[in-house]
Amino acid sequence: MRQYDYDLITIGAGSGGVRASRRAAALGKKVAIIENMRVGGTCVMRGCVPKKLLVLGSHFGEDFEDAAGYGWTVAEPGFDWPKLITAKNKELDRLEHVYHRILRDSGVEEITGTGTLADPHRVDVDGPDGKKSLTAETILIATGGWPKMPDVPGIDHAITSNEALDLKAFPKRIAIVGGGYIAVEFAGIFNAFGADVTMVIRAPQILRGFDEAVRDVLAEEMEKKGIIIRRECTVKSIETCAGGFSLCFTGGDEIEADQVMYATGRAPNTRGLGLEAAGVLLDANGAIQVDAFSRTAAANIYAIGDATERMNLTPVALAEAEALVRTLYEGTPTALDYTNIATAVFSQPPVGTVGLSEEEAGARGKVDVYISRFTPMKYTLSGRDEKTLMKLIVDRGTGIVVGCHMVGLDAPEIIQGIAIAVKCGATKAQFDATIGIHPTAAEEFVTMRDIWPEPGDS
Ligand code: NDP
Repeated sequence: MRQYDYDLITIGAGSGGVRASRRAAALGKKVAIIENMRVGGTCVMRGCVPKKLLVLGSHFGEDFEDAAGYGWTVAEPGFDWPKLITAKNKELDRLEHVYHRILRDSGVEEITGTGTLADPHRVDVDGPDGKKSLTAETILIATGGWPKMPDVPGIDHAITSNEALDLKAFPKRIAIVGGGYIAVEFAGIFNAFGADVTMVIRAPQILRGFDEAVRDVLAEEMEKKGIIIRRECTVKSIETCAGGFSLCFTGGDEIEADQVMYATGRAPNTRGLGLEAAGVLLDANGAIQVDAFSRTAAANIYAIGDATERMNLTPVALAEAEALVRTLYEGTPTALDYTNIATAVFSQPPVGTVGLSEEEAGARGKVDVYISRFTPMKYTLSGRDEKTLMKLIVDRGTGIVVGCHMVGLDAPEIIQGIAIAVKCGATKAQFDATIGIHPTAAEEFVTMRDIWPEPGDS
């Protein structure tokens, strides 16, 4: 006789919640997963997947132009935004079906509704089929995050990435506030489809926390493509005007746009879940406090993914889910290693990065820096003015490559491979001993020989 209805109840059917639930069910556990939106979560429904489809779609504009340099005659290409959005949504429907099937096949019970904790072992569910109350030995919170916007007069006129992915009409002019991952990715998408894009950032440069060279080179390339970046600029208010919206800055000037999008960070989806009453601790931003094994302050409640704000990336949530199942159900307490996790920004051109920035590495000790900046072969015949940046940061004492950064065509694909070497602690000598694949851009990473002069070197 079970003491509880389930071994595990998961609240939130995004990447992390689904992975943990189906792995636990595959091990014979009785599992239910509760979701009040679409199964698949941010990544599949409102983030990585639809965003990447739009990035891929938008890049054809440049591809058609580049084709002319290779002898192609391309008739004036036309573009149909509603057609793309319909195709994208069809793909999301397909993926949602796949998620439902995976859950069903692995024996996880799906429950539609909003789950809140009544006590550490009890979840109340309010859904289309009415209210019910369920108990579980273990509860997993995997509720993800949601865009957050500052309290600016007129902020209700602004959209977030959620709405930007589903706009009925393509905006001719868009202002994007923020300079992080989402802002640069959407600036690239809208610009490549032909909109006039203005980014409004409060800092001197985009992508805070990334290597300085990456930030500078990406901003330069984006500006060459026509994106306007208004630096050190703060929005005072958003007002409606005849042409759409007027974005008024604290400096007194203003710009007009058809759409105003805010990409000013995300907040964990943790309010109103009854977490505090159940003994779970949150930080000031609402992130669930967990130990290295994803256990909250309440002994039987665990949390993974963006709700914990450790590293808000889908593959990290998946890895946290895998580690949790090993800890809970396979007798192997497993803490995730957060070092050297590669990441990409699907800007145009894209960024791929793993390890430390030059600034972070330099703060730890002496480093040697290797930089290559070149025109990708594809653009030699097409004449496109876009350069690639590749950068290696090497610890001078050990020779270990501690950081690897790229801005340019295929950067995310290339850095994924390089990340294995960096994770394994490869040295610069081992990079050098690797024979390149020719002719590729990637081979530059194993043929960099000249140390970049330090400031002050002659
Ligand atoms: P980020 O934290 O990356 O960037 C937030 C941006 O908004 C920063 O430029 C920040 O400026 C600015 N900002 C914050 N508050 C304000 C404010 N009040 N007024 C004006 N500007 C402000 O958040 P995102 O929303 O871009 O993305 C959220 C997270 O989602 C990312 O950190 C990432 O973990 C994940 N993500 C990952 C992707 C990927 O892997 N490709 C893609 C998209 C998202 P400042 O620099 O001055 O602080």
